[in-house]
Amino acid sequence: MSECPSLKSCAFFKEFERDEKRRLALKGFVRKFCKGPEQEKCVRKKIKAKLGMALVPVNMMPNGSKLSGTSLDTWDKKVLTYLQQNN
Ligand code: SF4
Repeated sequence: MSECPSLKSCAFFKEFERDEKRRLALKGFVRKFCKGPEQEKCVRKKIKAKLGMALVPVNMMPNGSKLSGTSLDTWDKKVLTYLQQNN
């Protein structure tokens, strides 16, 4: 399985990769999504394609949920609508 071309620049990983408490969870996401079988199911990727890179929330996990301990406050309404319609 090839690696997602966005992995090195993905804002989610850039923001949280140095957080010791989240490192294990991030590794799991990379294995499952970024370098694994669920790559095409990555919600970050889908929102980027549909709404543009600028609207992909930094704290959105590849499964489309917010990272625990972070807030939905910065998520654009279009993103929330997309998630409601595609769940
Ligand atoms: S989270 Fe999604 S967009 Fe980011 S690198 Fe992984 S598969 Fe690609």
